Amino acid sequence: MKLYSTKHISPDVDLKTAVLKGLPPDNGLYMPYEINELPPSFFEQLPNMSFNEMAFKVAKNIIGNFISDENLKEIIAESYDFDAPLVILDEIGVLELFQGPTLAFKDFGARFMGRLMGYFLKGNTDEVNILVATSGDTGSAVAHGFYKVPNIKVCILYPKDKVSDIQEKQFTTLGHNITAIEIDGTFDDCQALVKTAFLDEELNNKMTLSSANSINIARLIPQSFYYFWAYKQLENKSLPLNFCIPSGNFGNLTAGLFAKKMGLPIHKLIAATNSNDIFTKYLQTGNFAPRPSVSTISNAMDVGNPSNFYRVLDFYKNDFSLLKENIAAYSFDDEATAETIKFVFQKYNYEICPHTAVAYLGMKAYLKENLGESNNIILATAHPIKFGEIVEPIIGHTPEMPERLKSAIGSTKLSIPMKNDFSVFKNWLINK
Ligand SMILES: *Cc1c(COP(=O)(O)O)cnc(C)c1O
Repeated sequence: MKLYSTKHISPDVDLKTAVLKGLPPDNGLYMPYEINELPPSFFEQLPNMSFNEMAFKVAKNIIGNFISDENLKEIIAESYDFDAPLVILDEIGVLELFQGPTLAFKDFGARFMGRLMGYFLKGNTDEVNILVATSGDTGSAVAHGFYKVPNIKVCILYPKDKVSDIQEKQFTTLGHNITAIEIDGTFDDCQALVKTAFLDEELNNKMTLSSANSINIARLIPQSFYYFWAYKQLENKSLPLNFCIPSGNFGNLTAGLFAKKMGLPIHKLIAATNSNDIFTKYLQTGNFAPRPSVSTISNAMDVGNPSNFYRVLDFYKNDFSLLKENIAAYSFDDEATAETIKFVFQKYNYEICPHTAVAYLGMKAYLKENLGESNNIILATAHPIKFGEIVEPIIGHTPEMPERLKSAIGSTKLSIPMKNDFSVFKNWLINK
């Protein structure tokens, strides 16, 4: 498997380099040269495959022979021991991607990546430092995905007072190789600190830095698995297939593009965002204009400069009209999001998180403009209890907390408070 940088300046790399480095030196994003179509036999056998059998075939199709079948199967087996069921609410299917240990879809990417990196570093003497900026869910998924993986230290930067209590507990209480830093700033500030660190020559000479944000290709590959898994669960597979993806950094949507390239018959990918509507505006105007993020109740999508935008653009070879034919986008404010959480609960007795509500709205908006029968799947990216403080006043009760979350809630927060200042962060990294 060969990868190039979307900026086409840095040299091509193999999967190991792309995964361990995260970002190419030219500050582009790594993309695979080839994403082949899966053979017809894959789709014929799909109805009888387990998640892990399917994941192996999809991963192998992208990765090729770079990792032995045995090792790849092991990485997958260790990553996935939870399901992703499709729940049908009339014309909309809800793919529950929150049944992993941290109750969000990011478990799919982070767990695979943690094990893949662990595999690449086997027998290494030097340590890799993973820097992650999080608006909530990435932090917990990465912390759990890498927890106690040998040769890896994880440093998580998150914006003070801007993540939910449960999210914060999930990545600040683990200890061991996981350190959380509470930045006095926004998510974009955290992301900027991480990006600056990757470009800082002195730091990179002193230590091996890597990323685990959705810019790392190791997270995107496994996120394509569940698109196939959703398809497998459909009763009538011959109808046009639409996915609506609640989007922030657009990693999830990029993984959907990978699935499409591999032959999954996706008709439309619909990006749904909150008031951080940079992508929606882009589709309307052709002008990509990042701006500072604003806080919303779907805070894992509060992103003002979506980091995978250039992958999406690259996927369509910068052809705006082709991109627009294949991807639709809608944005919604907090009021509409809250109304939808309430509506879905009252109509179906089904609890959804604010991000999933944005996706529900996106799918509804699309269906209003596009009549005719179709399969319509929205990605439910987090369990409603992760956003219990938001959901509770809307539906009148707290969603039930799954067992696996209860232990984190009782543990002590161990994070380090820090100013939004790169020199402070850099000194801390060097001296830790
Ligand atoms: C991260 C996240 C998103 C956004 O996913 P991207 O891949 O960044 O677009 C949506 N919902 C939840 C719950 C998330 O944690």
